[in-house]
Amino acid sequence: MSANKDSVPENDTVPMIDIDLARSLFDEFHAIGFDGLGMTRASYDVGENAAHACLERVAGMLGLEIRRDWALNLFMTLPGRDRSRPAMFVGSHVDTVPVGGNFDGAAGVIAGMAILSGWIKAGFRPLCDVTVMAIRAEESVWFPVSYIGSKAAFGLLTEESLAVTQRVSGRTLREHMRASGGSPEAFRTAQRLDPHQIRCFVELHIEQGPVLIGTGTPLGIVTGICGSLRYRHAIMRGAYAHSGATPRAFRKDAVMATADFMSTLQQKWIEIEAEGEEMTLTFGVCHTDADQADFSTIAGQVDFSVDVRSRDHALLARMDSAIHDARAKVEKTYGVALELGPKTGSEPALMDAALQQGLRESAEALGVSAYSMPSGAGHDSALFAASGVPTAMIFVRNKNGSHNPYEAMDEVDFVAGVKVLSDFLRRQSVEPA
Ligand SMILES: [Zn+2]
Repeated sequence: MSANKDSVPENDTVPMIDIDLARSLFDEFHAIGFDGLGMTRASYDVGENAAHACLERVAGMLGLEIRRDWALNLFMTLPGRDRSRPAMFVGSHVDTVPVGGNFDGAAGVIAGMAILSGWIKAGFRPLCDVTVMAIRAEESVWFPVSYIGSKAAFGLLTEESLAVTQRVSGRTLREHMRASGGSPEAFRTAQRLDPHQIRCFVELHIEQGPVLIGTGTPLGIVTGICGSLRYRHAIMRGAYAHSGATPRAFRKDAVMATADFMSTLQQKWIEIEAEGEEMTLTFGVCHTDADQADFSTIAGQVDFSVDVRSRDHALLARMDSAIHDARAKVEKTYGVALELGPKTGSEPALMDAALQQGLRESAEALGVSAYSMPSGAGHDSALFAASGVPTAMIFVRNKNGSHNPYEAMDEVDFVAGVKVLSDFLRRQSVEPA
């Protein structure tokens, strides 16, 4: 994080935030996770456990109420003046992908700690409880299950999920949880979060794409989190044949069929964009069989993946039927057979309109420009929204994407985001729901 202390104007109406605490937490998280190039804080493993221990120590020093659930999500609460009111939650995750960056996830938890510490030092006590939640295991690269921590918190984690294995250790999620101090055997009986007792959840997160850099805006206010439609293991089956001896009419060329299939869908995306709709289409895997393919043979097989993302459920369904139409077309034209394989995906989640408006008002009051945008990446916020909690997200501008060591968030942008969040929470906490 590059320091630039002077660019955000101080405002008397905003309770102070403890930026020194934020700096020291980012430094400590860096020391915990540094792998020689980037950050590696594996879920339910040494890195994530150490980051949680660090947060718990700081929460103890601040005098916050500390609670852990059976899955070791960490709740750090500043009690409000009226404890019967639903609490406001902020937070994110502190695990990383292998060789990731220091800000993805951590920024949202550290923002919450900087706010509560600032409020405590200023003697400000909110009307309702404010809880910083450090959520477990958001990065599904370690265990192949999405949103493990937030699902566990809402009682949505299945018993089968506890049996999945970690990519490095080969041990189960259940074993990792227990070794970290959790109680996986309690998953059926443990107390779960009641969405009615949570007034809102706001997650501050670095932007993981280039939109805010492009618009020259320090903050984003997220309108919705994209859902996805995926065929991870599609196979185009044709017939291997001699490249010189097989006229076009006799070919079952898996490569040409795949190229046609992909460009047909790409054309569909361009049409949909021209209608003003937002979506993405990605073929991240595409290869012939390395053992059988060669330059003088028509390829008999192409393996590829399809990933479609959109905030709009109907648009995902529309693309799914476009995928099936494109399949029928290439099968007829090229004499191939396309096996799409299992369909997976997630539902889109809309962010709460009133919370988005509240965040815009706080940004405006502080003179910080904020750009409304969807999130193409998945976040725990999607799970909170799906559980019925009014949910919002603040994106902080970030160069070089994320899930790599080169994430680059300027401190001045982070401070702007934390101030907006602090102002928003303060306004919400003095205005009864
Ligand atoms: Zn993240």
